[in-house]
Amino acid sequence: MPKNTTASLPRFIELGEMKIGALPRILEKYDIKSKKIMLLCDENTLRIGGQVMLAALQAKDIDVHEQGVDNSDDPNVMRTAEKIETENPDLIIGFGGGRVLDVAKLAAGTKNKKYISIPTTLSNDGIASPVSVIKDSKNIPVSHITRAPFGVIIDLDIIRGAPKRHLMAGVGDLVSNLSAVFDAHLAHQKRSEEINVNALELAESGGHRLLNLENPTIDNTVFLQELAHGLVRSGFAMCIWGTSRPASGSEHKISHSIDHFCPRCNGLHGEQVGIAAIFTMALQENPSLHAARAFYDRIGFPCSLTHLGLSRDEFVTVVRNATKIRPERYTVLEDKRPTDKEISHIIDFLDF
Ligand SMILES: [Zn+2]
Repeated sequence: MPKNTTASLPRFIELGEMKIGALPRILEKYDIKSKKIMLLCDENTLRIGGQVMLAALQAKDIDVHEQGVDNSDDPNVMRTAEKIETENPDLIIGFGGGRVLDVAKLAAGTKNKKYISIPTTLSNDGIASPVSVIKDSKNIPVSHITRAPFGVIIDLDIIRGAPKRHLMAGVGDLVSNLSAVFDAHLAHQKRSEEINVNALELAESGGHRLLNLENPTIDNTVFLQELAHGLVRSGFAMCIWGTSRPASGSEHKISHSIDHFCPRCNGLHGEQVGIAAIFTMALQENPSLHAARAFYDRIGFPCSLTHLGLSRDEFVTVVRNATKIRPERYTVLEDKRPTDKEISHIIDFLDF
């Protein structure tokens, strides 16, 4: 059931070219009068744009402290939160991929600080969401609900330079919403769970828009704009709902099951959920299955178990164990409880 939540939506989204150097002007535009900023990044992101941002801010006499993040785990969150406590900046900026942004979002939320998210890639829907995924002491990713970013700045010049594999993963995370939204409707029908139709429409609209693009190519500007908007909408849907439900159903359970039971698999989150979504959509008899599969083929999304390093038997085990993940979230896996034979049959049908 959607929680009554205070999770507010990001106040602004800036998407376009040459945004990094224009950061002081953007802050001014949204009336953010920070004098002391903590910039969270990693070595790579400092090199690809962090230095430009630093120079632009310092030219406006803004005191900027850089803080490195090297992993999205508990020690990085704690270290960052302590730094925020001692330095007391009036704004936190996260500039990086998913790891940097997840740490920045949770540390800023814990310390009740205004936070701006500036992704350097579009690998998942965390860029504008209230969810932060942090690895625990056993290296298992754990989702935390925190405050959504105050603003999101997406510089397409930076995004174009992101590894293609990361952008593909973002596509997988967005397409996976079509499976998650189906599961939310299913829980409503079978379990009378309350739903928020607006949140669900927002979550699936980005996926449908991608699937309907003419001549989709991963590095095309229109494609990247749609991907960015879709991932932002997905974050908005989670803010409105108050949990990750509109963007996380059976396919995310399978991905978490892979993290738990097959830790040697090193697929990106978006790859895992994007591939798992094809399986769950087949199980759901989801009307978008064939369009999603054809779209993956057109853009070259790696839709196979071998890409994840999973054997057929391992995948069967992973699916069987997926109902142990977040058992309170009712999905097609709880509804159909597929046997090993049925799972195998779908793998054959999909030619995974
Ligand atoms: Zn996801």
